[in-house]
Amino acid sequence: MTEFDDEMRILREAMVREIEQSAADLSQDIGGRVLSPRVMAVLRDVPRHLFVPPQHLADAYRNRPIPIGYGQTISQPFIVALMTDLLNLAATDRVLEVGTGSGYQTAVLAKLVEDVFTIETCAPLSERAAETFAELGIGNVRSRIGDGYLGWPEAAPFDAILVAAAPLEVPDPLIQQLAPGGRLVVPVGGQAQQLILVEKQSDQSTVLRDIIPVCFVPLTRQGGSR
Ligand code: SAH
Repeated sequence: MTEFDDEMRILREAMVREIEQSAADLSQDIGGRVLSPRVMAVLRDVPRHLFVPPQHLADAYRNRPIPIGYGQTISQPFIVALMTDLLNLAATDRVLEVGTGSGYQTAVLAKLVEDVFTIETCAPLSERAAETFAELGIGNVRSRIGDGYLGWPEAAPFDAILVAAAPLEVPDPLIQQLAPGGRLVVPVGGQAQQLILVEKQSDQSTVLRDIIPVCFVPLTRQGGSR
């Protein structure tokens, strides 16, 4: 391990402690939830610095969002941890992500499950993320450029779906593509957004739970509408 890698590992460890502190501070808001050790182990492992633009390298392990170009941001690490944790993933799960962005969240998911499908509207971001997956030897991600509101019908059903941009309502196609017992985590709203967990029951009915207020970029549809 080089000195640089070692330095990054130390910063990653500090980031993980900050995330755990945020979870403790927000414990009441997030229903007393403790982030699972499996998720935290992955956050200790994934080199977030490879997913941020070089000019933001110094901020790679701060617990905050960072601009990644094209008006988009890499999500705040605490939110990545919380959303991943809410999905309650099993190793054999098939997961859909909407809003690949930098690919950091995708890489976290790819370390936890067998198959990850990820959709991004912005072609250069999708391509850049795919390059980073290749660099890291992550081979269980399938990427697509397109409108994630519509999901990925050919690959459905999914055990878990994570949406990293905010629609005004929970997208119906995503609920359709959720397997019975499946979980969908999505920020919903305009100015004021709420992170919502949707659980699909074995009888296909859904249970929605409000988690916490969040601030995501809008989920944009073809033509720029929401
Ligand atoms: N998880 C990513 C978050 C990126 S921000 C990361 O940590 O890097 C959200 C991303 O959603 C942006 O890259 C944006 O281009 C993308 N996006 C917005 N609307 C979308 C849509 N309808 N379908 C797919 N991706 C969308």
